Amino acid sequence: KGFQKSSKKIASFGQKNLDIRVSLKAQSNAEKCKDTLNEALAATTTFLRTNSYSPCCDLCGQNVETGAFRMGGEYYHLCPDCETK
Ligand SMILES: [Zn+2]
Repeated sequence: KGFQKSSKKIASFGQKNLDIRVSLKAQSNAEKCKDTLNEALAATTTFLRTNSYSPCCDLCGQNVETGAFRMGGEYYHLCPDCETK
């Protein structure tokens, strides 16, 4: 909640299982939207890294490098083992 309140660009910030979910405040045009996205991404990754979060597989939880996948309309970050399965 402190992080969410510290950013003027982030509307909501939370964790559900292994996912971090970030919603941005609406912007009036494409240029402001781009700036908001860049600022929010930089702030979010800095916050996560300084609070010891690290990438992990959405299915097995292994702390390894993951790849992004879309299945059934949902997005996942999967390790090579789960990607193969
Ligand atoms: Zn996995």
